Amino acid sequence: MAAAPPPPLVVAVDGVLCDITRSLVQGAARVTCLIPPGADPHGVALRGSDRQALSSARLVLMNGYNLTPAMQRIRVSAPVVPVAERAVPRNKALDPHVWHDPALTSAMVQATASALKPVLGSAQGPALQRRSQAMQAVLNQLGSWSAQQLQTVPTAQRVLVSEHRAFSAFASRYGIRELPVLDTFATGGTLRPSSLAAISAAIRKSGTKVIFAEALPPSKTLRRISSVSGVAIAKQPLFADGQAPGQSLIQTATANVCTFVTAQGGRCDQQTASALQQQWAAIR
Ligand SMILES: [Zn+2]
Repeated sequence: MAAAPPPPLVVAVDGVLCDITRSLVQGAARVTCLIPPGADPHGVALRGSDRQALSSARLVLMNGYNLTPAMQRIRVSAPVVPVAERAVPRNKALDPHVWHDPALTSAMVQATASALKPVLGSAQGPALQRRSQAMQAVLNQLGSWSAQQLQTVPTAQRVLVSEHRAFSAFASRYGIRELPVLDTFATGGTLRPSSLAAISAAIRKSGTKVIFAEALPPSKTLRRISSVSGVAIAKQPLFADGQAPGQSLIQTATANVCTFVTAQGGRCDQQTASALQQQWAAIR
């Protein structure tokens, strides 16, 4: 009897595709994740081991909308599926971080499952379908839970001030104003004195209690903006670019909601958040 062929290799490049793919596949394929949690996909360079994984993959799943510009220079023989572009074809802001709206994450789960189906084979079809539905059910509850937490924030403080535009999907889902200060006032990344003055005025006018960093310690630019505007940087960062280190996408999303809500004067129901995290982790 011939040995069984090794399970196919699937590469999940960026955003929240590592968790989505692993949760859908379980043991039916090997999954390699490229951009580590906490890394900046916008500026990352691919390593030799990443190229190796890409060249031996049967399927490459990436977020798309140019979340990881380094992928533009990659040629591989396996199909490359830009999951967010397939799942969310209408994206006016061209903001690649669409998974900050759980309804769009749910559409990404469906698109990922469709792309995996021919790779895993028809025997895996029912299990894939069952996991996809279980994941979408958790994401649906995550959307309602998040909306309830955001309702506790006074209307005047339903504003998200950050450096870069990464929360358009979050803002439009929950009725929050988004003020990505560098993308709005400092094109090309250079912070002129006139831009700094305009940013400070806009932040003070926005009614926000804090400015959100994407990582800690905050950048020099953000610290300068904070000191000139007199508005503090939130004690916890918002994870804009994917999963937080060591966290599932549900843990990352609930942490982001609680960080935002708590800093802006609302209340966060941690108990339901952990129930959602457990439900997600239990999907087999
Ligand atoms: Zn980003």
